[in-house]
Amino acid sequence: MLIDTHCHLDKPRYKRHMKKILQDAQDNGVKGILIPSTQKNTLDDAQTLAQSYEGVFYSVGYHPKYADKFEMETLETYVEDERCIAIGEFGLDYVRLSKEEAVRKPVIDEQKRVLKIHLEFAVKHQKPVLIHLRDKHVSVHGEKTAHDDFLEIVTPYLGKLVGGVIHAINFDRADYMALSEYGFYFGIGGQLTYDRVEDLKSFVKKAPLSSLLLETDAPWLTPQVRKKPMKEVANKPAYLVDVLEALSRVLEMPQEVVSKEILNNTLRLFPAFLEAVQSKGYSSGEVRNIAQLGAEVIRQVATPVEEIESQETQALIEDLLLTCIDSQGMGIASPQISVSKRIFIMASKPNKRYPHAPKMKPKAIINPQIIAYAQEYEKDWEGCLSLPNIRALVPRSKQIEVHYFTRDGKEVHEVLEGFLARIFQHEFDHLEGKVFIDRVENTLDIVMEREYKRIIYGGDKKCKT
Ligand code: ZN
Repeated sequence: MLIDTHCHLDKPRYKRHMKKILQDAQDNGVKGILIPSTQKNTLDDAQTLAQSYEGVFYSVGYHPKYADKFEMETLETYVEDERCIAIGEFGLDYVRLSKEEAVRKPVIDEQKRVLKIHLEFAVKHQKPVLIHLRDKHVSVHGEKTAHDDFLEIVTPYLGKLVGGVIHAINFDRADYMALSEYGFYFGIGGQLTYDRVEDLKSFVKKAPLSSLLLETDAPWLTPQVRKKPMKEVANKPAYLVDVLEALSRVLEMPQEVVSKEILNNTLRLFPAFLEAVQSKGYSSGEVRNIAQLGAEVIRQVATPVEEIESQETQALIEDLLLTCIDSQGMGIASPQISVSKRIFIMASKPNKRYPHAPKMKPKAIINPQIIAYAQEYEKDWEGCLSLPNIRALVPRSKQIEVHYFTRDGKEVHEVLEGFLARIFQHEFDHLEGKVFIDRVENTLDIVMEREYKRIIYGGDKKCKT
């Protein structure tokens, strides 16, 4: 079994083929993937993937290429998420910088500043770091290389950091080898399959096997055997088998021995991947079509779930979770994917409109009951995946007492308030064949999405939808 500790699965190119990419990975024994973030823009996608698929995790950080875009708030937003298991990728990248000192120096200074911030953040949160270093192999003008600078900067943090990965290692330095005593590992990728990588081979032979991890760095660094003349072939997690093969060849050890040891290394640094070891696969679920108002199922009263632990119910929950996350919904009810059963998903998370919405791991609510409603009501905006482009002010009870079952059959009795109480009431209505516009006090409280945005965000700001 293999874990790809560096794979940019959040790249848009993978999106349409995600199921196939993951199936392919699974068929090749690659059961876990760590998505390294490089900037803010792709983080929501990385998080969505990690929440949707078992064995997939992500990290938060700014690649040195984006050091000038660094915002502390981004790190703070994602670091507490249990699917976010590392800080990175960050580091130093001196390739393709201007040769003019006056232009080059401020860029390098900024990269170093951001590198230190990441290191301090990783110490504070005790999460492993993913380090990106790129440079010319030898200093041409006697100036310090990215590798020299990184070692100098990281040294005071050694022992305080929980460790990390020097990703896509392609050089041979004894002083780097010493990092393995401080919890650092070396990410071996597709480069090992290339010609003329004597430095890397020499490093790999000297490094203890207990300090190596495997990675594809997909879509980059496609292994040599997969390349085709005159054609760009994107790398993918399934090709990790080629890296394992190359590593075993260089080490002159059987693949089974190497992969077993590397899995142990991976679990030492990222214990969360135990989930991948234990899981049957990335996901059995699929994203389903959402029934729209007018479909009969939306107006039916849903029937209770009889066997929560049955395969049928669990598969339905998987589909609901995946569909909810894919559509970025705060919740979804089973009738909305055309299955008239008393199950819904709650998936509250902060967004622009509800910055204080509680952040929760999406969860299934089965056979829910609302036992009591507080007599205090509050009007607020709602929308619904089954009524796209419509928003309305809906009065809801501010506090409710509820009873339901979780997907593992546990009974829950609790009191919900505010935003969570609102989601619960909205989704509960779906099980009764009701939708939010049935609840409005006045039809004047119903508006179209574009006007809603104007009302909410003010002015005559143009909207895309
Ligand atoms: Zn709805």
